Amino acid sequence: MKPASFDYVRAESIAHAVRLLSGAGGDAKIIAGGQSLMPMMNFRLVKPSLLVDINSISGIDSIERVGDKLRIGALVRHRMTAESADVTMSIPILHAAMKHVAHLTVRNRGTFCGSVCHADPAAEMPMMTLLLNGVVNASSVRGNRTILAHEFFAGSLMTVLESDEMVTSIDIDTLPEGAGWGFEEFSRRHGDYALAAVAVTMVASGGVARDVRIAIMGVGETPLRISGLEEMVAGNAVNDRLKDDVIHALGDSIMPNSDLNGSADYRRHLAGALLGRAISNAWTRANRGHA
Ligand code: FAD
Repeated sequence: MKPASFDYVRAESIAHAVRLLSGAGGDAKIIAGGQSLMPMMNFRLVKPSLLVDINSISGIDSIERVGDKLRIGALVRHRMTAESADVTMSIPILHAAMKHVAHLTVRNRGTFCGSVCHADPAAEMPMMTLLLNGVVNASSVRGNRTILAHEFFAGSLMTVLESDEMVTSIDIDTLPEGAGWGFEEFSRRHGDYALAAVAVTMVASGGVARDVRIAIMGVGETPLRISGLEEMVAGNAVNDRLKDDVIHALGDSIMPNSDLNGSADYRRHLAGALLGRAISNAWTRANRGHA
């Protein structure tokens, strides 16, 4: 299919982009990598009257260290995130997650921030932003604001971003020294969207797990952090009994949908299996004292 007709402007700066968004009265869309927007437009699921292309804006295509966080600019492509030495060294779990994202052509164009704005519940970057206590930096003609990741995702393909706002960057936590991590995903073919994935980080101290984070996707309308599961693991040594208890508790706290790719029961079982493995791997790495 072909998209409905639209106007196109190449923005020269963030100020220019947000003026264009504001002037379109809610009917404009930013195009970054175009890897999700163009298919949506071709299927006429979205019909913006104006595309604001941000690809020529300078200064938003780098990954920078800001205190104990990494700041990922709006034009950082998936490939840049995957190959970044800063990411590999300070957030190895993100480096591992990026290996599961799509195929080379998509990874060369698609952006981390575009994926978070698109908010596909089966995409890796929204889940990693939630796991890593992400902060979304947004601009509009009304000024700048920051939105915490756990308040950003409003539903499948829905966020709290206003139609006149541009995400300029996203800040994500680096992992503490010696933190362990586990990332487990299942998809039908490599590079496909996940049926389910689980990401876990923790620190081992005094023989128990601390600072435990657990994020899950593919089992709800948005990626999830389930604090009850994190609290079950924190303060304990990881063993088979604890993992069984956590997997059981996960089953009670999620309500996956049935679809062509699998029934709700299958997704619940899959998420539990991935969770058990991710917790084991995080614990093992944490006890080795390095990620
Ligand atoms: P675009 O397509 O340009 O935009 C997507 C949406 O975000 C639009 O609504 C746009 O207006 C908005 N937007 C973009 N940037 C901004 C901004 N800075 N501020 C405000 N709004 C913005 N993703 C995965 O995570 N895992 C996969 O396995 C995967 N597989 C894929 C396989 C195929 C064949 C394809 C085509 C895509 C796949 N994707 C996958 C999606 C891919 O990661 C996209 O690149 C990503 O979802 C969107 O990023 P983008 O830069 O292309 O955004």
